[in-house]
Amino acid sequence: MSKQKGSLSINSENIFPIIKKWLYSDHDIFFRELISNGSDAVTKLKKLELMGEVNLPDDNKFKIEVIVNPEEKTIKFIDNGIGMTGDEVKEYINQIAFSGAEAFLEKYKDKTNEDQIIGHFGLGFYSSFMVADKVTIDTLSYQEGAVPVHWVSEGGTEFEMNDGDKETRGTEITLYLNEDSYEFSNEYRAKEVIQKYCSFMPVEIYFKNINAPEEFEEVEEEVDGAEAEDTVIDATVDEEGNAKEESEDSKKETKKVPKKPEPVNNPTPLWTKHPNECSDEEYKEFYRNVFHDYKEPLFWIHLNMDYPFNLKGILYFPKLNTEYDTLEGTIKLYNNQVFIADNIKEVIPEFLMLLKGVIDCPDLPLNVSRSALQNDGFVKKISEYITKKVADKLSGMYKVDKENYEKFWDDLSPFIKFGCLKDDKFRDKMKDFIIFKNLEGKYITLPEYIEAGNKKSENEPEKEEVKDSSTEKNEADEKEDNKKDEKKQATIFYVTDEQQQSQYINLFKEEGIDALILTHNIDQPFISQLEQQDDAIKFQRIDSDLTENLKEEANKEDEEILKKQVDTLTELFKKALNKEKLEVKVEKLKNENVSSMITLSEESRRMQDMMKMYNMYGM
Ligand code: ADP
Ligand code: MG
Repeated sequence: MSKQKGSLSINSENIFPIIKKWLYSDHDIFFRELISNGSDAVTKLKKLELMGEVNLPDDNKFKIEVIVNPEEKTIKFIDNGIGMTGDEVKEYINQIAFSGAEAFLEKYKDKTNEDQIIGHFGLGFYSSFMVADKVTIDTLSYQEGAVPVHWVSEGGTEFEMNDGDKETRGTEITLYLNEDSYEFSNEYRAKEVIQKYCSFMPVEIYFKNINAPEEFEEVEEEVDGAEAEDTVIDATVDEEGNAKEESEDSKKETKKVPKKPEPVNNPTPLWTKHPNECSDEEYKEFYRNVFHDYKEPLFWIHLNMDYPFNLKGILYFPKLNTEYDTLEGTIKLYNNQVFIADNIKEVIPEFLMLLKGVIDCPDLPLNVSRSALQNDGFVKKISEYITKKVADKLSGMYKVDKENYEKFWDDLSPFIKFGCLKDDKFRDKMKDFIIFKNLEGKYITLPEYIEAGNKKSENEPEKEEVKDSSTEKNEADEKEDNKKDEKKQATIFYVTDEQQQSQYINLFKEEGIDALILTHNIDQPFISQLEQQDDAIKFQRIDSDLTENLKEEANKEDEEILKKQVDTLTELFKKALNKEKLEVKVEKLKNENVSSMITLSEESRRMQDMMKMYNMYGM
C-alpha cells in the first residue's frame, strides 16, 4: 500500500457516552463547569475592556445568575460576559474538546496573561449532559451588530442552531434535567453544590429559586408627616421657617421592600490579597468562615508567589484541644478560585494535611485525573515549595519569636514531629529547632540537654580518686576511654507519664539529673527516628534500667543480701506472672530516701508505650 497520511476521526456517537459517563466522577460538577464558563466569559470581557477593545456602560456590573425551577426541573446559568457569535458557537460548542479559552489566550497573548481564565480542555460544557436530556444556549456576543443565537441539543450528539431572541449581552444556558438528576433543581441541594465549588469564584454569583415566593425585608423609612396628609402639603412647601418643625412631625414607618439579592460567593477571598493588606482579624474570620472552627488558630502562613509558578494560599495551625486530639486538618485546593478537592495528597505533603488551609494554584490543570497528578514533576515541586515555606516560617519563629514558639510548642510539636517522620527535607530544615520540655518545665534542645548532662558529670567529684599508684596509668587510660564513650553515646532520659512516673521523677530531681517530657503518642516513633539518625544518642525511659548515677556499687555484705533478694523475687514474680523464664536483677540504690523501685528494660518500656497507643486508638 502506498504511504498515506491523515488525522484520526472520532465518531461522536460513540465517544459521547464515554465522556458523559467517565469524564467526571461526580455528577454535581456541572455546576462548577457552567459557572466557570460564565466566569471566563466575564473575565474575557474585562480583559478586552482593559485592552481598550470594548467600551462598557458605566453602570455595567458583571454577574452570574443561577436560577432553579424545581417545578419544571430546570436550571439556568446566565452571565453577562463576552457572549458568542454563531461562528463561535460552531467552533467552541459544536466541536467537542475545542476550547475557546485557549483560543482567546492565543489570540491576545501579547496583550494579556492567563490570570483567572479557568477553561482549558474544552470539555466542561459537556458535563451538562451528565444530568440533562436537553440543553439550550441563548447567547449574544458583545460585538457590535452581533446576532443572537439559539442552540439546542437533546442528548448531545445532534444539535439545532438558529437566530435567537436574546436582547442583552451574554449567555444563558438552560438544562432540562433528566429523571436521575432532579435533585439538582432543589434549592438547597443546588446551593450546597454551588457553595462547595464556587464560594470564591471571581465573579459575583446570584442564586434564585423561581418557584419560591419573593422575599421581602422590612426597612425603616422616614415618612414626612405632612406628606401623609395631602391637605397640608402646600402650606409647608413654601415656608422655610416651618421646615424644622415639620421634620419633628415626620414619623418613621416600616415598609416592606423586595429583598436585595446578595451574592452567594466571595469573589475576593483573603488569599488573593497581599499579606500586607490583611489584618489578623480578617485571617481569623476567614478561618471561621471556611473551616467552621470557632477555636482561634495559633498562627498562619500566607503563601504568595508568582515565580516559578503561581501559588497563593493560607495555612493555619489549629489549636489542639487535648494531648490526645487527633490531628485532622483539611487543605482545600483551588484552581483560579474554583474549588477542586480537599486533601489532594499528590499536591499537599501528607503531614501538612494536619493543618487547615486553602491553596490556590492556577497552574494546576483543573480537569486532569489524580493519577496524572501523581507522576507530574511540577506537582512535586509545588509540594516541596509548600513544605519549604512551612519550615521557613517555623524556624524563623524559633529565631525571632522564641517566646511564642515555646508557647505554641505543645500544639505544634505533634505536627512538626509527624513532618520529620514523613518528609526528609522537612526534617533537615527543622531538626535544629525541635525543643523538649524538661523536668523544670523549660524548653530545651537536645544538644542543650546533652551539654547540661556533660557539665554536671564534669563537676561531679570523681569516685575513684584514691587509687593504687601502680594501676594509675591504666585507670587513667580507662577513664579517658570512658569519657570518649560518654561523648559517643549520650543517654537521654524521658518521661511518658508524669503521674505514673512521679516517683522516678522525684528521684531524678534529687540526684540533679534532668529528663525530657515526651507524652504524645507521636513521640515514640519520633525518638526512634532520632536514634536512627544519630548513633551518639540513646533514649531511655526514666523507669527503665537503672543508670550508673543512681546506683551504688555493692560491697560484699550487700551482695549476699542482694542475691537472696533475687531468689525470693524471682520466685514471687514467676508465680505472679505465671512465667517460667524470668530474669530478675537487683541493684543497690544510692539514694536512701527511696526504699525500692522496679525498673524494666528499655525495650519492654517502649513496648508498653506502643501497646498503650494501640489500645487507645483501638488498632
Ligand atoms: P473550556 O472552558 O475548557 O474551554 P468548555 O467545554 O467549558 O471548555 O467550553 C468550551 C468553549 O465554549 C469555551 O472555551 C468558550 O469559548 C465557550 N463558552 C462556553 N460557555 C460560555 C459562556 N457562558 N459564554 C461564552 N462562551 C462560552
Ligand atoms: Mg469551561
